[in-house]
Amino acid sequence: MLKATFPHHKNMIREFTVFCKLKYISISAIQLFEEFMDNFCIEDCVCPTCGAKHTCSPHDSYERNLISYESGKSVCYRVNVLRVICESCGYPHAILPEILIPYGSYNILFILAVLRDYYIHSCKIQELCNKYQIAVSTLYRWKRLFQKHKKLWLGLLEDIATPASDFIDFLMNFSIGVLSQGLKHFFLSHDFSFLQGPSKTAHSASP
Ligand SMILES: [Zn+2]
Repeated sequence: MLKATFPHHKNMIREFTVFCKLKYISISAIQLFEEFMDNFCIEDCVCPTCGAKHTCSPHDSYERNLISYESGKSVCYRVNVLRVICESCGYPHAILPEILIPYGSYNILFILAVLRDYYIHSCKIQELCNKYQIAVSTLYRWKRLFQKHKKLWLGLLEDIATPASDFIDFLMNFSIGVLSQGLKHFFLSHDFSFLQGPSKTAHSASP
C-alpha cells in the first residue's frame, strides 16, 4: 500500500498510443491490451513521481477485470497489469493502457458505447441495461461522470453547444486519433483520467 498522502495519479503511468495506431473496432479488448503491452517499452518510461528517465524496471503485477462488449454480449477478461519500480525514488507505478480506466473494470469503449446508445435513445433504459448487463444505477453514474468530464474537456461554453452524442462521435472518430490524444491531454490537465470515478481505493497500489 502507498501512503495515504500520496497523490493517486502518481502511482500509475498512463499510456495513450494504441487508439492512434490501430483500426481496433474489430479487435477484442484483450487483443488491444496485449498489443499495447507487446509494444510497451520500459526504457521509455518517465517516472511520474520524480521525473527521472530510464530508471524504471519491472516490479510485479496484479490481476484485474477488463469488461468489454463484443459480438453482442458483455465479456469479462482477466488481465495482468504490470507494475514498474523507479530505481531513483523507489515508487512503484502501474502501467495502464488507455483502454483501462483506473479503479474500474469496464473498458472505456464499453462505457462510450453505452452512453452513445443512451443519448441517441436507441431503446428504453431497461432494455439498454439488459443489453449491456449493467445496473440502471451504473448507467446514471456513468452519465453524471460523463457530463462532468465533458464540461472539463470542452470548457463551459462549448459544452453547452455540443450535444452529448456529437461529442461521443467526435471521440470515437478513430481515423483522426482524437481519443488517444484527447485522453492524454485530459489526464495531464486534470491529474485523473476521463471517466475515472472517485474511488476509496484511490491510494492503493492496484489502480
Ligand atoms: Zn522516480
